[in-house]
Amino acid sequence: MEFIVAIDGPAGSGKGTITKKISTELGLVSIDTGATYRCVALNMLQENVGLDEEAKIKQILENINIDLKPDGKIFLNGEDVTNKIRTPEVSKFVSPVSALKIVRDKMVDIQRKMAEGKNAIMEGRDIGTVVFPNANVKIYLDATPEERANRRMKQMAEKGIKLDYQQVLQEIIERDTRDLNRAIAPLKKADDAIYVDSSNMTIDEVTNKIIQIIKFATRDVD
Ligand code: C5P
Repeated sequence: MEFIVAIDGPAGSGKGTITKKISTELGLVSIDTGATYRCVALNMLQENVGLDEEAKIKQILENINIDLKPDGKIFLNGEDVTNKIRTPEVSKFVSPVSALKIVRDKMVDIQRKMAEGKNAIMEGRDIGTVVFPNANVKIYLDATPEERANRRMKQMAEKGIKLDYQQVLQEIIERDTRDLNRAIAPLKKADDAIYVDSSNMTIDEVTNKIIQIIKFATRDVD
């Protein structure tokens, strides 16, 4: 039997940071499903495969090996791609790649296998709606586009990179629009998900709130 916590929400809502914190605190396996789509996008860029080359994409998917290590490192076909999948090039390409049906079918299959028989916390866009519609806990984590742009600016500033606020905001809005409006598995709050707006909350406040929700859900399971 597995116990699944699904965390869905847009880019920059804090899903990644919060999922890692909760997984450490509660001893749950952490699964970043966005990383699996990023691996496909990177592999396509590496092999020079375009969005309309279905046969080549199929071949990539047949041979793909994605390994999310417990220490957070990500391996694609045996290569450490932890940093390579976060470049602006991959971030731009991943959204149209993740809208392809053959890609989604394969990734959903891989993601389900990653969680099989485990107690896991999974973050993405469609975990509570498609990947695990029967997840034990479903959270939809949100924040305003302006707050998410500010967070991204701050995150990059810490690495010494200064970005243009209007451009960052514009990119966030564009990615939201694509993720919210795509035909297959769009970003959507599951009917039974708990909505958490993190705009005016600290990471610790959000983490603690979600831990309380998980503990309440597990009260009968222990
Ligand atoms: O979470 P992250 O920003 O790394 O995800 C990268 C992209 O992968 C998203 O913009 C979205 O297009 C796609 N994605 C998805 N379904 C998921 C997770 C991510 O379509 N479950």
